[in-house]
Amino acid sequence: DPRINGIRTNIRVVPDFPKPGIMFQDITTLLLEPKVFKDAIDMFVERYKGKNITVVAGIEARGFIFGPPIALAIGAKFVPLRKPKKLPGGVMSEAYILEYGRDCLEMHVGAVEANERALVVDDLVATGGTLCAAINLLERAGAEVVECACVIEIPELKGRERLKGKPLYTLVEYR
Ligand code: 5GP
Repeated sequence: DPRINGIRTNIRVVPDFPKPGIMFQDITTLLLEPKVFKDAIDMFVERYKGKNITVVAGIEARGFIFGPPIALAIGAKFVPLRKPKKLPGGVMSEAYILEYGRDCLEMHVGAVEANERALVVDDLVATGGTLCAAINLLERAGAEVVECACVIEIPELKGRERLKGKPLYTLVEYR
């Protein structure tokens, strides 16, 4: 797809952020180019329209950038999966392990109903731990996770293998 090259070249790689040794993939530079941002959203929308997806679940924070335009375009609702203690209503929580320490995602009780068809959206998959927690939350609510979608994948970290057998679609790989 000719759009992929523009997406790849507009992701800025920032060495040693947020700590030494990390090559941080910065998608904010992609957002500064409306045509490229639209290309990324269009590629997801082309893949998911007509698939009867009822809910797009976006992961805080950068899943809140890519998830809502996809949800609007395919006629699905948008549900934010947030870091702890941000959501005001009753929540379901799912803890997960990070490289150093642990974190947690929360979803409002009642936001997703049993038998809904869900798409999980984030900017990047590294180890897959975050997407796995999102899948667990949606499945606990009784939804079927149809696929996970990210802009960037780091294949070396094998996150794809941690998604409980769910398919993963990514636009670019960082090697
Ligand atoms: P994982 O749980 O797959 O190891 O890490 C993925 C999560 O960390 C995602 O929510 C993603 O936004 C964030 N993340 C980790 N590394 C990067 C990076 O280099 N760039 C960006 N934009 N996000 C990252």
